[in-house]
Amino acid sequence: MVEFELINPKTLESVPALLGKKWDEALLLAGGTDLLDMLKERLVQPQRVINLKSVPGLSYIKNGAGLEIGALTTIAEIAEHASVRKNFAVLAEAAESIATPQLRNMGTLGGNLCQRPRCWYFRAKDIVCIKKGGGRCYAVDGLNKYHCLFGGGPSFIVHPSDSAPALLALGATLDVLGPHGKEEIALEDFYELPLDNIRREHILQPNQFITAVRVPQPAPGTKSTYLKFREKQSLDFAIVSVAAVLQMEGKTCKKASVVLGGVAPKPWRVEATEAELNGKALTAEVIAKAANAAVANANPMSQNGYKVQLTKVMVRRALERLV
Ligand SMILES: Cc1cc2nc3c(=O)[nH]c(=O)nc-3n(C[C@H](O)[C@H](O)[C@H](O)COP(=O)(O)OP(=O)(O)OC[C@H]3O[C@@H](n4cnc5c(N)ncnc54)[C@H](O)[C@@H]3O)c2cc1C
Repeated sequence: MVEFELINPKTLESVPALLGKKWDEALLLAGGTDLLDMLKERLVQPQRVINLKSVPGLSYIKNGAGLEIGALTTIAEIAEHASVRKNFAVLAEAAESIATPQLRNMGTLGGNLCQRPRCWYFRAKDIVCIKKGGGRCYAVDGLNKYHCLFGGGPSFIVHPSDSAPALLALGATLDVLGPHGKEEIALEDFYELPLDNIRREHILQPNQFITAVRVPQPAPGTKSTYLKFREKQSLDFAIVSVAAVLQMEGKTCKKASVVLGGVAPKPWRVEATEAELNGKALTAEVIAKAANAAVANANPMSQNGYKVQLTKVMVRRALERLV
């Protein structure tokens, strides 16, 4: 680890100036379960680390007209919260599927949404891949069994967060604080494909950060679930995951929201699947068609073709859970 200055701000308002205008100069620390690894591996070498945990009041869950979760709320608190489990099952199930009890006790929601990719080339300190300012994505001609099916190029990472697909399917927004004050950003607009802003995964500026996540109260008749396929059952990132939120009236789906994890550089909404479900009675045939539609535009790499069939099966099983 390279030496840095640890700063413990006491107010939210002081954080943007402390973060400053360059990503490489200062980084925010929440639970530290990802950032400390990145620091130890020298994948990031900031001059300042700003400890968000020294700011009071960012850890809470409120469920009134909708759900509001402070950025420092731990993943464990979300997974265990009675209202979240009752009204936002997809989020509780996603939270429950994350890592291990120890990591869920330390890791926060803000950190989970902003964690960096797990691609083995990105995480290898001696490999300067395109996400780290190099000239190419080594997964293209290399080992790509865990890489993306959708939205790839020139980098082919997948987004690692389990909370992100669940929150996106629920229509969440983020409260973001920066030097010019607060703004609300739809999670749908938060993540970016690795194109112009290839070294980052989201649209935040270096001096902006998430203070809270808001989720609208689901419409009556809404059912939701999160289904995750991982190689190692004890703890693992998603190879494919499905966040499904269906507003039902009897057997008919009034409105579907289906988002995939583990298959694209950002949580991947499958509009074609949603279109196959909207306004229809969810028979086995409709569900099968919706599952097929999810992979119609898949673009597998040399070693990850198995993810196409897996995605199809996972979408079908997630939808079957909700009828
Ligand atoms: C062994 C292992 C297994 C894991 N398995 C899973 C898994 O199955 N599913 C999954 O989703 N995750 C998994 N993770 C990732 C883990 O969930 C994240 O590391 C954790 O959620 C990050 O939260 P944190 O508070 O520790 O963030 P930190 O490590 O403190 O920060 C992570 C990143 O987010 C930034 N950040 C933190 N808070 C904010 C904020 N409020 N606003 C803006 N930026 C912020 C930091 O600057 C940093 O870049 C795993 C991690 C490990 C080590």
